[in-house]
Amino acid sequence: MAEYRVYLQATAEMAVRVEAEDETEAIDKAYDELPGGVCAQCSGWRQKWNLDIGDFEVSDSTDEFPNPELVSD
Ligand SMILES: [Zn+2]
Repeated sequence: MAEYRVYLQATAEMAVRVEAEDETEAIDKAYDELPGGVCAQCSGWRQKWNLDIGDFEVSDSTDEFPNPELVSD
């Protein structure tokens, strides 16, 4: 039997709560809070699979879901 490597893809979404003077600063601070990667266990160390989270981008802002979302003044 042959051996194959199958690539699968999922979308990860993350919300970060930060304190900032304005939306631009909020986005900057949110990026500062992002994890650089996943831990050994989640990355699939010694498993048949490996998991790598890609780069996060700021989600689109809409009237229904403003982004950044003002949580409190
Ligand atoms: Zn983990």
